[in-house]
Amino acid sequence: MRSVNFSIAVDGPSSSGKGTLAVGLANYYNLPYLDTGAMYRSFAALVMEKLIDPQDKLSVINLAKTFQYNLSSIRNSSEDVARVASMVSAIPDVRDIFVKWQRSFSKDGAVLDGRDIGSVILKDASYKFYITADLSIRAQRRFNELKVKNIDCDLDSIMLLLKQRDENDLNRLVAPLKISDDAVVIDASHLTSEEVLNFAIKSIQSKD
Ligand code: C5P
Repeated sequence: MRSVNFSIAVDGPSSSGKGTLAVGLANYYNLPYLDTGAMYRSFAALVMEKLIDPQDKLSVINLAKTFQYNLSSIRNSSEDVARVASMVSAIPDVRDIFVKWQRSFSKDGAVLDGRDIGSVILKDASYKFYITADLSIRAQRRFNELKVKNIDCDLDSIMLLLKQRDENDLNRLVAPLKISDDAVVIDASHLTSEEVLNFAIKSIQSKD
C-alpha cells in the first residue's frame, strides 16, 4: 500500500545508471522526479559563469544563497562543470541550502537521485537503492553519452575524471557518497537499464 509521501532514494557514483533508474521508477509510480546532480551542476555552471573561484568558499556560499533552481533547465553534461560541482558541493553551507530545497520538493513523495539521498535528504525514504558499476564500464557509458551529444572527449581522460570525482565524493567530510544500511545494492555493470528497473520494481513489490 503506497503512503501519501511515498519516496524513493537512488544513490550511486557517476554514470552508474542511477538517473535512468530514478526516471524509470518515477514514471512507473507516477511520482515527481528530481535529479540532484543536475542541481549541483546548474549551480556550478553559474559559479563558472560569474568567474568565481570554486575555492573561494565565502563567494560561493553567497551565490548559493541567491541561487534559484529551474526544474525545467537542461542538465549540463560538461565534465568541467561536473568537476566544479564536486568542489562546491563539498561546502557544508552550500549543501544546507540544497538540502532544504530538495526536502521541500519531496515532501509529498518523490524519486530523487544523487549521492546523499538515502543517507541525508530522504533518510526515511520508503525504498532506497544504491547503484554501482565498474569504473571502466561507467567511463565507456559516459564516453558514448558525450559522443552522441557531439562533445569532444577521450576515454582515458573520462576514466580519470570519473575516478577523481568518485574519490572526492566518497572522501569528503560532509554527506559523502555511501551505501545506506537499508539500501538495496544493484551492480549494474552487466545489466541493461530495463533489467535494473525490473529488478528495482520487483524488490519494491517484494517489500509491500
Ligand atoms: O550526479 P552527477 O554526476 O551529475 O553530480 C555531479 C556532482 O554533484 C557529483 O560529482 C557530486 O559531487 C555532486 N552531487 C552531490 N550530491 C548530490 C548530487 C550530486 O554532492 N546529491
